Amino acid sequence: SGLEDELKRAIRTIPDYPKPGILFRDITTLLGDARAFRRAVDALVQPWAGGKIDKVAGMEARGFILGGAVAHQLSAGFVPIRKKGKLPYKTVSMAYELEYGTDEMEIHVDAVKPGERVILVDDLIATGGTAEGAVKLLQQVGAVIEAACFIVDLPELGGADKLRAMNVAVRTLVA
Ligand code: 5GP
Repeated sequence: SGLEDELKRAIRTIPDYPKPGILFRDITTLLGDARAFRRAVDALVQPWAGGKIDKVAGMEARGFILGGAVAHQLSAGFVPIRKKGKLPYKTVSMAYELEYGTDEMEIHVDAVKPGERVILVDDLIATGGTAEGAVKLLQQVGAVIEAACFIVDLPELGGADKLRAMNVAVRTLVA
C-alpha cells in the first residue's frame, strides 16, 4: 500500500546494531518526518476513532512517544509501562524475556481501573517478549485489552502470533 511504502521509506535500517548480525529498524527518522509520523499515528488509531478507548499504554521508551500521540488523538489517557524501579507509587511487576535472560517491567497499581478499555502501543514487535509482559501486567490491573498496535512487525520472529495466541488483537503497519 502507499502508506506501508511511505513508512518503510521513512525507517532507516542500521546493520550490526546493537551487535553484529542484527538489522536494527531505526524509527527516529520516521518520527522526524512530519508527514510519516502523522500518517503512522493516524493509521494506528483509525479502528478506534469512534472513541471507545479509555487508556493507551506505552512501553518504555519509544512506546511513550507513539503512545502519547495516539492517546491525544483518541482523547484517551496515557499509561506508562516502565523498567523496574522508575515508577514512584505502588506497582505491579512482571518478568519478561530478553534475548539473554529476563528483566522486569512495572505499572502503577491504579493506572487502569478494572474494565477500562486499553490499547497497547510500541514501535516494533520482534519476539513479542516485551509485549507479552505488558499484556500480562495490564490484565493483572484489570484492563480490557482491545489491541496491541505497532508500526513495525518482524513476522519471522513470531511476536504477533504469540499475542494472537493470547487472544490479543494485533495491528501492525509495516512488515
Ligand atoms: P521483542 O520483545 O518483541 O523481542 O522486542 C521488541 C522490543 O524491543 C520493543 O520495545 C522495541 O522497541 C525493541 N526493539 C527490538 N528490535 C528493535 C528494532 O530493530 N528497532 C526498534 N526501533 N526497536 C526494536
